[in-house]
Amino acid sequence: MIIILKSHATDEQVQHVVDRIEELGLRTHVSRGSYRTVIGVIGDEAKALESPLRAISGVEEVIPVLPPYKLASREAQREPTVVDVAGVKIGGGHMAMIAGPCAVENPRRMDEIAAAVTTAGANILRGGAFKPRTSPYAYQGMGEEGLKILRDTGDKYGVPIVTEVMDPRRVELVAKYADMIQIGARNMQNFVLLTEVGQTRKPVLLKRGMSATIEDLLMSAEYVMSQGNPHVVLCERGVKGFDKATRNLFDVAAVPQVRLLSHLPIVVDPSHATGRPDLIPACALAGVAAGADGVHIEVHNCPEEALSDGPQALLPQQYAELSAQIFRLAEVIGKSISKLGRKT
Ligand code: PEP
Ligand code: MN
Repeated sequence: MIIILKSHATDEQVQHVVDRIEELGLRTHVSRGSYRTVIGVIGDEAKALESPLRAISGVEEVIPVLPPYKLASREAQREPTVVDVAGVKIGGGHMAMIAGPCAVENPRRMDEIAAAVTTAGANILRGGAFKPRTSPYAYQGMGEEGLKILRDTGDKYGVPIVTEVMDPRRVELVAKYADMIQIGARNMQNFVLLTEVGQTRKPVLLKRGMSATIEDLLMSAEYVMSQGNPHVVLCERGVKGFDKATRNLFDVAAVPQVRLLSHLPIVVDPSHATGRPDLIPACALAGVAAGADGVHIEVHNCPEEALSDGPQALLPQQYAELSAQIFRLAEVIGKSISKLGRKT
């Protein structure tokens, strides 16, 4: 850590800062320039961060040298984390093909969509049973019944399932059915929920909040990991932009940036990022080319009847075409995508 003193800081103030740091069991290196004094702190930075050094008079700025997300950072682990979702690997050269409807609607619909996406190469089936809707009057999801349908369908087609949990009181219930637990954009900073999910050992799909910085996202991953659950996969799903042309603003640069800062896998969700089926394929491929460890896409076989997010759903045929392109691109960039055999 580096502490920069104000230009008019007195010798007493400098000494006071030094004393406070040494009381914490850390060492200091004082460097006096012609305008400013800078104090280098040597030792465990976390101890110094706990103390509000910035509040000491004469201190201008406190600059940590290590990122605050200790477990999620590249410094903590050089090699990429590979998350195993019931046999499907994500990260370290392995890609996830997550696909399915926004919401679980009924067994027949789920079966038709699952048949189509798994045939096209999806290796994780998605579907929301608890839906975070902006309006309390919009479709809220089937609840536990939806979880059962998703589980049965995943088992039938031999694919793991991912579904969202919104309520810390339902984590146990969702974990009973799901192979991977999704934390949605709206809950990325629900710290009680993150802590609860961190206490399970289920893989977590952590979506970036719509106004969250990359550091916020990594701090939320840190919440999960600090509870003992290291199986976190991040998801770039677009952030709020000013242009109504797309639902959100797809931040493709977040992919290589996260890879620089963290060892955790990151997938892209061009469905929520753009909200537009005509833009999803290009953004999915851009995400993969940027280094994403997977692609998360909403697919529906009758979007006009979908109970949630119909306008952004790809038709099964569109998904199949995109999936074939993603498989080809993966080969070019040396990534593998596990193919799961159908059970029926
Ligand atoms: C979803 O995956 O259907 C969803 C609600 O996503 P997000 O949290 O990214 O909006
Ligand atoms: Mn959705």
